[in-house]
Amino acid sequence: MGKLLSIESGELEAKVDLDRTLLDTDLFLHTLLVLLAEQKKGIVPAQEFTRTETDFMDKSDGLRRYLFWKHMADLGFSEQQIWDLKRPLAARPLLYSDALRGLNYLNERCKKTQILTFGEKDYQGFKLACVPLLGQFATDAEIIDCRKNEAMNDVPPPNVLFDDNDISGELSLGSVMVCVNRHSHVPLVQHSERHFTIANLEPETLEQIL
Ligand SMILES: [Mg+2]
Repeated sequence: MGKLLSIESGELEAKVDLDRTLLDTDLFLHTLLVLLAEQKKGIVPAQEFTRTETDFMDKSDGLRRYLFWKHMADLGFSEQQIWDLKRPLAARPLLYSDALRGLNYLNERCKKTQILTFGEKDYQGFKLACVPLLGQFATDAEIIDCRKNEAMNDVPPPNVLFDDNDISGELSLGSVMVCVNRHSHVPLVQHSERHFTIANLEPETLEQIL
């Protein structure tokens, strides 16, 4: 089958989102809260999970920034106590099963492949530390505190963004958007020449595009 993207993949720089693209973030947070609940009675993981969206989401500048450490402090846990959970969290399958295969596929074909993640630097760093399977991809991840399209403007074109949030309308002409919809039952949808939706990061799916 021919490639759908009319760009040589070797010219492309690929950026791949972390939350809900590579990492099952909801599972990560739920697992963390369950581990904390085992230490401290009174925490109901389901309730606390809801509070991540209500009490600890900073939307002051139009972006959605989860104030993770504020939430943990509110529950009475120190940063050290949270970091102590790195090992048990790292033992859980918190990445989507295709995450590493997908990254490796992109890394073989693209000029450069890097994780691009938005949010509080220390929180993003903690999550990355909890997924050691990502190896160098985690070490080399770029953590930003601005809009993804602004960050993509700094990437030399042609470039491609893999993200569960479809921001195709905000990207510049030199960018390709690949929306990773983990809830889709259709493996690959092409919306236009430079806009795709895929259901997974399996190499078999990716190789249809690039
Ligand atoms: Mg995301």
